[in-house]
Amino acid sequence: MSQYDLIVIGGGSGGVATANRAGSYGARVALIEKGRMGGTCVNVGCVPKKIMWTAASLHAAVTEAKNYGFDTHLGEFHWSKLKAQRDSYIQRLNAGYERGLDGNNVEVIKGDAVFESHNTVRVGDNTYQSTRILVATGGYPLVPAIPGAQLGITSDGFFELEQQPKKVAVIGAGYIAVEFSGLLNALGSQVSLFLRKTEVLRHFDHSIRSVLMSEMERDGVQIIKNTAFKEIIEDNKTLLLKSNNGDEYSGFDQVIWAIGRTPNTQTLNLDNVGVETTESGHITVNKYQETNVPGIFAVGDITGHHELTPVAIAAGRRLADRLFNGQEDRHLNYENIPTVIFSHPPIGTVGITEHEAVTKFGAHNVKVYESSFKPMHFAFNSNGAKCLMKLIVTGPEEKVVGCHGIGLGMDEMMQGFAVAVRMGATKKDFDDTVAIHPTVAEEMVTMKISRAAIPSSN
Ligand SMILES: Cc1cc2nc3c(=O)[nH]c(=O)nc-3n(C[C@H](O)[C@H](O)[C@H](O)COP(=O)(O)OP(=O)(O)OC[C@H]3O[C@@H](n4cnc5c(N)ncnc54)[C@H](O)[C@@H]3O)c2cc1C
Repeated sequence: MSQYDLIVIGGGSGGVATANRAGSYGARVALIEKGRMGGTCVNVGCVPKKIMWTAASLHAAVTEAKNYGFDTHLGEFHWSKLKAQRDSYIQRLNAGYERGLDGNNVEVIKGDAVFESHNTVRVGDNTYQSTRILVATGGYPLVPAIPGAQLGITSDGFFELEQQPKKVAVIGAGYIAVEFSGLLNALGSQVSLFLRKTEVLRHFDHSIRSVLMSEMERDGVQIIKNTAFKEIIEDNKTLLLKSNNGDEYSGFDQVIWAIGRTPNTQTLNLDNVGVETTESGHITVNKYQETNVPGIFAVGDITGHHELTPVAIAAGRRLADRLFNGQEDRHLNYENIPTVIFSHPPIGTVGITEHEAVTKFGAHNVKVYESSFKPMHFAFNSNGAKCLMKLIVTGPEEKVVGCHGIGLGMDEMMQGFAVAVRMGATKKDFDDTVAIHPTVAEEMVTMKISRAAIPSSN
């Protein structure tokens, strides 16, 4: 039986980062992966999604260029050509991941890992042993248990589409639903977005949500609220959706389920080794990524905290620093994690929402600075998407506890503001920072008008 200092199960963002960092310290590491190297982000997540978003943004840029005097016209968009380019780019990334692991002397084992005991993992007929085992097995997209659900696809299936769907139903309210709706609409598909309740991105700041929903509708996405489905049937080579309240929606050539993801814990045999999971199947960990079983750790989506690639990477690298480089208290602080939604227009956010601030500090201790404007980029386009920026501050020193924005460039802007918020910047720090003109970002350091927090602002 082969022995290691660390066995990593899952070659996604978290697993690869941990294995590489541990290997770089000289640890003897094995990484087990059952699919393509790089996991969700590289193969069916962030990377192909961002390529599609960029294509959709270029589509809009070509249209906008006319307003700047270019004699442009939108030729045909070849979805299959873009997909082929995207696939080969991802294959290069897969190979890059393999090379990186090789460079850190990580042994890659292909196959499906199952726990035999607290320190032994089996893949097929072979067993591997270590006193430290990391579970970084991520998750997969959910499909509801209704008749005909399999006629729809998930985000995984979306990235396999060879042809652009003409008329699409996207079902869900989270970031994947919003991003897919926006990019498909911008690329020319007819999109209906179905929400079980009334709002998208329910954990985001309410002001940002409402701008997004109105911008999406203005762009042509049909948003249908308070709708859940009981069945999908084939109807004359298209798909027909039957809702619980008796309404029917027909004529779709694709239905995309974007109703959430569930953790890959079912097949690991975790019960046998006594690893605690939550009701949703996520693995419970403490701040050091330790499970309740000594020597078994977990990072990334499998833990259900901030399901983002950089979070999985950061948690994994810190774990390796602690286990193999003597950095005793090294762990990830899960506060103030910035994130971007690649919607149309994009959203950037760090810190807490107005509602969370009111709950945490009391409405009388929270103030909101807000600015809504049309970016100069759209100087010649009365239809250009507006920007909204919002700072949530607390206490007499006006510490910035939330920084949110929607609009052009927000995706690239938020990283820098996240540094400021993490360092505990106050509104005065923002005000004392000289603006960069003319930019969209300067608005974040020139906001003058404030209002009291709204007590029930969810
Ligand atoms: C459509 C989409 C868009 C996204 N966009 C973004 C984005 O823009 N920005 C961002 O930060 N995040 C984004 N994410 C989230 C991001 O992809 C995840 O947070 C990230 O991949 C989590 O990494 P992980 O290592 O926890 O798991 P994963 O990357 O899912 O890796 C888990 C790996 O474990 C393997 N595995 C599972 N079980 C076993 C087993 N028993 N044996 C062996 N191997 C196993 C799987 O094959 C997989 O490769 C997106 C996700 C999706 C679905």
